[in-house]
Order: sequence, then C-alpha cells, then structure tokens
Amino acid sequence: PWFDRDLSLAGRVTVLDEDGQVKDTLVNFKKPVAIIPSLAIHLDRSRTVNAQTDLPPVMMQVPETDTTTFADLLKTQIASEAGINADKVLGYELSFYDAQGASTVGLREEFLASARLDNLLSCYIGLESLMNASGDQPALLVCNDHEEVGSMSAEGAQGPFLSNVLDRWCGADKARTIARSMMISADNAHGIHPNYMDRHDENHGPVLNQGPVIKVNHNQRYATNSRSAALYRHISDELGLPHQSFVVRSDMGCGSTIGPLTAGTLGITTLDIGVPQFAMHSIRELVGTRDGFTLYRVLKAYMDRPDVA
Ligand SMILES: [Zn+2]
Repeated sequence: PWFDRDLSLAGRVTVLDEDGQVKDTLVNFKKPVAIIPSLAIHLDRSRTVNAQTDLPPVMMQVPETDTTTFADLLKTQIASEAGINADKVLGYELSFYDAQGASTVGLREEFLASARLDNLLSCYIGLESLMNASGDQPALLVCNDHEEVGSMSAEGAQGPFLSNVLDRWCGADKARTIARSMMISADNAHGIHPNYMDRHDENHGPVLNQGPVIKVNHNQRYATNSRSAALYRHISDELGLPHQSFVVRSDMGCGSTIGPLTAGTLGITTLDIGVPQFAMHSIRELVGTRDGFTLYRVLKAYMDRPDVA
C-alpha cells in the first residue's frame, strides 16, 4: 500500500558543523520528495511484493554530469531549516511518510483517514487527557518508541526506561506506588471489516464509532484482567459513553501490545484498550471520528478520580 503515494522525508541528522562541533538536528522536507511507483498491472499479474527489490523509492533523476550526493541535499535542507552550516553529514535516521494530510471521510463524516493512527492517535489522546486532567492525583504518560519492531531498545517498552523513571521518581516507595497504580495501555484495535467479517469471532467484532475496545486474551497477549476492565466500564458507564470488547478468534493468532511487556516487568495491573480501526499498518488507516473523543473523556475522568485507583 506504500505504492504510488507522494512521500516526504523527515528525521534526525547528525552533522559536523562549521565550528567542528558534532550536532543533532531535525529535518522535515514537508513536500513530496519520493515515490514508489507500482509496476503496471499489465506487467505484474501475480502482484506479490518483495520488500528488498520492489520497495526502493525513486527520489530523483541525476544527469551524468551532476555529482550532487544525498548528503549535499541534506546539508542544503539543514541550512534552510535549522540555519546550520554543516561541514559533513555524519549520520542520519530518516523515514518516509505520506505527504497527504488527514481527512474526514463518509457521507456524514463518520471516519477519519490518516497515516500512523496506530498508534499516534492513542499517544495524542493520552497527552490530551493528561494535560486536561485536574492533576489532583499523580499520573504518568509514557510513549514508547519501537513498538512495531518488538520494543527491545533503549527507548522501547522492553528496555528499562519506565522502570528507571519510577526509581528516580518514587525512590524507596516504588513497589508501593506500583501496587496502588493501574496502567492503561492504549493501542488501536481491529474493527470488524465489512468485507472480511469472517476474520473476527462473531460475538466479538468491534464496530467503528461504537466505542473504545477493551482487549482480552487469556494467553496474555493483552494484559487486561477483569478488574482493570471493570474499572474502565464503570467510569465509561457513569459518563454514558459506549465501550466494546475484543477477543481474537480461538483459531487465529493474536496481535499484542506493550501492555503485557510493561505489566510483566513492573507487576502493575493493566488495561489494554484502544479505538477500533481498519487497515492497520497501511500507509493510510481509518478510524471512526467519535471513538477517539470517547476514549479521551474516559481517560480524563479516570485521572480525575483518585477513588477508583
Ligand atoms: Zn501497530
């Protein structure tokens, strides 16, 4: 699905600046600079995708006399964006992204189409609910990198970052703090796709716009237990807001989240929840316009209520 999209490029570049200092800076080209043209259907009847050979993007046509390198282009970009005159580009971590912005879709604008809804939508909801909560009880938001590649990194959920922050924050009271706390692991869920209804347990097919989805799995691919689910349902019911539940078909494999990783490391009661979506991991994903706001309202209410913790 990354074919034939207008791709831009952004990320971190490390340079040697004109004063001989090694410096990190961010770049974002903001306009389409690359594309992965698909092979015409006439030439490709089988439509398989080889990640090594089919996905390199086309970025420019270079005449034989032109010796410009990609590093030269990065230097120009850094100079115009950050005002840094780089002597040398020493390293970079850059990612392509779809240059098309988000849009509402549907005859009644029921849907929101955008890149990276899984899982920046939950990060956004978490941040908004934390910032708008009263602040009367302590709360912590952690947004981990590298979840889509297994979470094992210095910043990932399998690394020590959260535990170290709690050590520094709580000191000797860390274990007691964890015992009195609950973690809400928010990550999007698969809504039941009208064209592929058979991929869901017929009793557990979350519908877009019918509320956030409590994810349950007895093999602990999700960390929800009856208590964490009950607390969520209770607050949601009090606000008159909808919620749904998801259990994967017993004959299918199950996705997972960082919920079980963090629950297993810290020993904290955890709820796995997320808004339902279509096309997870596509370059353009789809959610219902109502579910994100519903989750925001419940999370904010949760943080405002010390009695439920
Ligand atoms: Zn994902």
